[in-house]
Amino acid sequence: MISYKELGLVNTREMFAKAVKGGYAIPAFNFNNMEQLQAIIQASAETKSPVILQVSKGARNYANQTLLRYMAEGAVAYAKELGWKRPQIVLHLDHGDTYETCKSCVDMGFSSVMIDGSALPYAENVALTKKVVRYAHKYDVTVEAELGVLAGVEDEVSAEESHYTRPEEVFDFVKKTGCDSLAISIGTSHGAYKFRPEQCTRDPKTGKLVPPPLAFNVLKAIEKNLPGFPIVLHGSSSVPQEYVDMIDKYGGKMPNAVGIPEEQLRKAAKSAVCKINIDSDSRLAMTAAVRKVLAEKPGEFDPRKYLGPARDEMKKLYAEKIVNVLGSANKAR
Ligand SMILES: [Zn+2]
Repeated sequence: MISYKELGLVNTREMFAKAVKGGYAIPAFNFNNMEQLQAIIQASAETKSPVILQVSKGARNYANQTLLRYMAEGAVAYAKELGWKRPQIVLHLDHGDTYETCKSCVDMGFSSVMIDGSALPYAENVALTKKVVRYAHKYDVTVEAELGVLAGVEDEVSAEESHYTRPEEVFDFVKKTGCDSLAISIGTSHGAYKFRPEQCTRDPKTGKLVPPPLAFNVLKAIEKNLPGFPIVLHGSSSVPQEYVDMIDKYGGKMPNAVGIPEEQLRKAAKSAVCKINIDSDSRLAMTAAVRKVLAEKPGEFDPRKYLGPARDEMKKLYAEKIVNVLGSANKAR
């Protein structure tokens, strides 16, 4: 049993309380390799922003859960080396699917876990979440739960009203489970193809896809039933057109990639939404930078020569999100 406190990590409790009160959101960036982690820590240290390092199931399969945990421990030391005296870094399990996975993360030093029972019937989601909360809270590890289903491109069903979180359920769910934060569905979705072209309109000037707006009425109703309670948005990449264009220009092909416009995320960050998950945008930044180097210098074979620029591009992206979208800069001085 390793406590995250020994590793210099923090849980989300105080961080979220401050963010809800202060009208900003904490960035939750996924990582599965060293360059990504370096970029996240450099951007957070430079902007003095609290940050959540997320480990998904895919990342655990790709990089190994134990190794990622040690990388997060290293990240705290690295942050201090960069001059960030009191780094506020959370190591969070993204989309934990079983009690056992959550338990093993609590036991190995994660400071926060998500149990995603959103695909289960309501009563089963309550029971599973409650079980995880009971274990995690023994070690002062915070728990994120989920109500409502996010649409993905692979889904046959589109993001209809029926998939949104039902505001009438949230109070009962939080009361019964004791979870510390709640991921909701108001129209965000995972991946770089968040909406099908037929769900979007087209900008007459540029011909680019304009996604449907988020369901702020649902968010408002949730806030009314859970005043001041920390809300989480998954699938909140913006899919910057500059990266999609760069990828296409240097031999890639990503037609109709579309994300959540930043002005909508800015608006959400000012509400009870206090954690915003961003993953795809960093993948796009990395891929765009790697493609550019390899296209321009076909003889290059030193990975540092393309992973280095990729890291710089990701750092730029993370800092831009912190400063211009989430508003979390200077909140962890
Ligand atoms: Zn997610």
